[in-house]
Amino acid sequence: MNFSSGIYLSRSEIEEIKTKRLRGLLRYVYERSAFYRRLFKENDIDVETIKSVEDLQKIPFTTKQHLREAYPLKMSCVAKEEIVRIQMSGGTTGQPVIVPYTRKDVEQWKEMLLRAFQIAGITSKDVIQITPAFGLWNGGFGFHFAADAINAFVIPIGAGNTRNQVKFMVDFGTTVLCATASYPLRIAEVAEEMGYEPSELPVEKMLLGAEPWSEEMRRKIEKTFDAKAFDIPGLTEMGGVGTVGFECPNRCGLHMWEDNYIVEIVDPESGEVVSDGEEGEIVYTSLNREAMPLVRYRSGEISAVLSREKCECGIEHMTVKRIRGRTDDLIIHKGVKFYPADVESILANHGVVHYRIDVKDEVKILFEGENGVLPAIAKDIKEFLGFSPKLEIFPKGSLERFEGKAKRLVR
Ligand SMILES: [Zn+2]
Repeated sequence: MNFSSGIYLSRSEIEEIKTKRLRGLLRYVYERSAFYRRLFKENDIDVETIKSVEDLQKIPFTTKQHLREAYPLKMSCVAKEEIVRIQMSGGTTGQPVIVPYTRKDVEQWKEMLLRAFQIAGITSKDVIQITPAFGLWNGGFGFHFAADAINAFVIPIGAGNTRNQVKFMVDFGTTVLCATASYPLRIAEVAEEMGYEPSELPVEKMLLGAEPWSEEMRRKIEKTFDAKAFDIPGLTEMGGVGTVGFECPNRCGLHMWEDNYIVEIVDPESGEVVSDGEEGEIVYTSLNREAMPLVRYRSGEISAVLSREKCECGIEHMTVKRIRGRTDDLIIHKGVKFYPADVESILANHGVVHYRIDVKDEVKILFEGENGVLPAIAKDIKEFLGFSPKLEIFPKGSLERFEGKAKRLVR
């Protein structure tokens, strides 16, 4: 079934659209955004001279701090009458980060999700249970817009009440579960408590996002549910979950929708664009948004370009690594840098899925498991990190569970 165009654009089509949209975008923000006009003037940038992605590097970054300072709508490029909704991005302190949408922006969000649905083979026959929240956080809405557009059976249940989630999965025959990556294993636990074998639940596909999760965790989730789990990236500032790209059906990374977003990877410290293959922070330019398009926005997401060649799956949009972590989550201890997902990979390899990393004074890893696994985990962690963090083992059910984004890093 074909709901959405744009997935299989050829390289030359992508380049043509990208260049055209970039030129249009720069003129648009120059005319309509006081923020960008000032930024360009202060840096002596004539937008007419920015003709390619390489030229784009002359433009300074837009940061989350800029968006905070722009509260409530100072960075909007449209009149208030044209705004149809707002969403809010994460961050617990200071001014909220508000992302306004026009009708066209909502359509764009939906279109990008439809690409994901098409790749995942989700159709009108599916029963789609949407467990991220419906509220200012962008969680549930993108899934909803796309599921509604294809006339699927939508269960807009939102976050929390895991027993009800399981009950509905059983009673309505949920085939597609949309969730944060840490939620399925919580659902599995509650299902077992209720007397259900998770692998016998009707769910066949899962679209999981909102937090970095490891391949080992994926294997554990897929085995537990006997289902296929897809990684869905995206952030509110770029229009919400599912906007920037989707996982390759052959699982060789994330294909980023280059006709809608320019993706650069930069060294988080120097801000210089790094070579393909090298890890760095993703910087996005949204090419096809109306209310608040952003030029060179620092996402905090850590990834690397894997390929710019046509993938075996037929997609010619560029491929990046699944998000390894966020710059905010980087742990630096005695010169060693690592992300919580690195520890998660090791733990999940030993069947451990509930854990906490406490870095308040020293690095402490708390996890639930059988005593027997401790020596093997200690050995693998030391091998990876080069030092031995303190390990504390707890009986099953001791650590707090999460129904939304997991808070596993304690600083
Ligand atoms: Zn592919």
